[in-house]
Amino acid sequence: MSGLLGAALLTSATCLRPLPPRFLSLTRKASTTSLSSSTMPLSLNSSNEASYRGTLHSAGKETPLSVTKCFEDNYGYLIPGRNSGDVISFDAPDGLVVGEAANELAFGSNGGTLHVLVTHGHHDHVGGMSDLIASWLAGGDGRKVKVHGPSDPRCESSVGGGCGYEILEGGDVRDVAGWGVEVIDTSGHTCPHVSYHIPELNFLMTGDSLFSLGCGRVFEGSMEEMWEGLRRYGGVGDGTWVACSHEYTLANARYMQSLGPNAELEERVREVEALRFKNLPSVPVRMESERRLNAFLKADSKEEFEALRRGKDGFKG
Ligand SMILES: [Zn+2]
Repeated sequence: MSGLLGAALLTSATCLRPLPPRFLSLTRKASTTSLSSSTMPLSLNSSNEASYRGTLHSAGKETPLSVTKCFEDNYGYLIPGRNSGDVISFDAPDGLVVGEAANELAFGSNGGTLHVLVTHGHHDHVGGMSDLIASWLAGGDGRKVKVHGPSDPRCESSVGGGCGYEILEGGDVRDVAGWGVEVIDTSGHTCPHVSYHIPELNFLMTGDSLFSLGCGRVFEGSMEEMWEGLRRYGGVGDGTWVACSHEYTLANARYMQSLGPNAELEERVREVEALRFKNLPSVPVRMESERRLNAFLKADSKEEFEALRRGKDGFKG
């Protein structure tokens, strides 16, 4: 074993787990149909100027998706539970903005449980937790909060007293507010970091792991962990909406453009520029589009991935 390999394995040991069987379908490729609109149609919420409303479809039923704009370029995402009055919030970036969106989705119900599904422990993902919890509990005497996320003191301590914290890890499947949620280990940006997949809604919350036309910086894990994490998205369908936590798409596109000419990439850039001109988010985006255009997802080896990631780290485009 080379010293380099040994070091990589030691670094990986903290959070890299074998791929669960159902995530081993890594040969899934994007279909060859041309891209039309890759981005979920969103409309500005008239009663809350920091949130947008989209729609998820399952079995002929429509489920609203709330996208909240927080700080400079963060997004939070919320969906209602199957049970009336329940709400799921993915992360808690800005507790007041997300809390307002959660209360809107609860349709004025006095009861109901707010489930917060945490991706990772960075402050712009969990820093709004106490305000979010307070905002929710103020809406009715019968209300409850349950927070779920990876085993990380930064996440667990964000909850404070009075609310429990359920530890999740890659491969777990949970019923959360009536939806079947798959937990995917996508460590690398932080260690741990998880993503949440709801197959029935064709919805995938990637946090700071996968961005549109990019991926998160590798702060805490190894390049190999980050690459393995992205590979675990291989079991997710092409039609899935990828919801990421930052509006980085145009900056990411500049790096993708530097890798070589690509007419489909230019089409996506025009779409994103038009959305951003209207102050609309460029996400959620179809997984099919990312599989076709995101070089980090298309990398065939960890060496290729690492070269791309290091290139992006030094890119001044
Ligand atoms: Zn982060």
